[in-house]
Amino acid sequence: MSPTDPEPAAPRAPHRPSLVHLLSLVPEELEAHAAAHGIALRPDEARRLLAARFAHAGHDPRPEPVGRKKIAAVEAVCRDARLALVERVHDPADGFVKYLFRAPDGLFFEAVRIPLHKPGRFSVCLSTQVGCAMRCAFCATGRLGLARNLEAWEMVASFLAVRDEAPGRVTGALFQGQGEPLQNTDEVLRAARVLSHPCGAHVAGRAITISTVGLVQGILRLAREKQPYKLIVSVTSLVAERRLRLLPVAAQTSVAELAAALRAWHGATGQRITLGWVLIGGENHDAAEVAGILEHFAGVPVCLNLIDVNDAREGGLRRATDAERGALLDRLSALRIPFIRRYSGGAERHAACGMLAAVRWDGSKPVEVTG
Ligand code: SF4
Repeated sequence: MSPTDPEPAAPRAPHRPSLVHLLSLVPEELEAHAAAHGIALRPDEARRLLAARFAHAGHDPRPEPVGRKKIAAVEAVCRDARLALVERVHDPADGFVKYLFRAPDGLFFEAVRIPLHKPGRFSVCLSTQVGCAMRCAFCATGRLGLARNLEAWEMVASFLAVRDEAPGRVTGALFQGQGEPLQNTDEVLRAARVLSHPCGAHVAGRAITISTVGLVQGILRLAREKQPYKLIVSVTSLVAERRLRLLPVAAQTSVAELAAALRAWHGATGQRITLGWVLIGGENHDAAEVAGILEHFAGVPVCLNLIDVNDAREGGLRRATDAERGALLDRLSALRIPFIRRYSGGAERHAACGMLAAVRWDGSKPVEVTG
């Protein structure tokens, strides 16, 4: 991490550090962890043990069992912490389902099941931190502040809880819930590795997306390591003064530095650069923004991922009018800059991203969900 990227500000949840969680391991790591505790676990046993742990009962083919004594020995040297599902909000109008989890230390975080274009298929939007330190002007989570980073197993466990409600139909994962993923890069990459492993959740690497508000050192790391995952960078504005007002983290990195990092990432991975754009009325839909795209991203493939500002009322912001939105889309179309309009579900049920956790932040008693 460079001096320009903020350090994670909060301590991790208390846990027994000598023990790792089964949901944060791939088979080679489990084998090595068992060996370090004097347990001889063969490679095929490590694979079968993890595959059984990740299988969804009644759907995935059951792997050959490993001996009970050996399973008990391995489990004794692994953590067995679990999440509690405490609230579930389904919006029948759009099919989004928002889940609120309680971690073992009592903190709350969310995940969202997102319907994909292909009917009956879903992706899961995963939180990476409890709260967030980035303070983006348009985000409820940003107003909470950061409590701690999530551990890989917590992200994986939240994915599995959502997946198990739609076995065989959850095909993607998106690290874009609460928190800034590239402020917790080690754990996010570990979770992505487990989710995409054939003995894990076997989500295709290309169906996993990491979203960032633009932490340059993290982007350069993804480039250096040639990580296979997609990347969305929530640029939102390329006009320096506006960007600084909407995204306080912009004080640490100029647009030019961010664009250079993205060009490096594109060069290393060959992937298209996706610019996340929270569209805000009276702000980031003018000709200056389109000029910024041309200035900083000429010659590299970019796509704008547009989403209307969600939690507008609390942030003193408003959604763009049809005329404002149309003017931006017309400019992009005229210059043949591709764009996608995204939809943020659940807003009408007061369940915009971060809101479930924000409601619980004051320690109010949650309602347990049993099924
Ligand atoms: S938009 Fe993302 S990075 Fe910004 S405050 Fe919200 S959770 Fe944090």
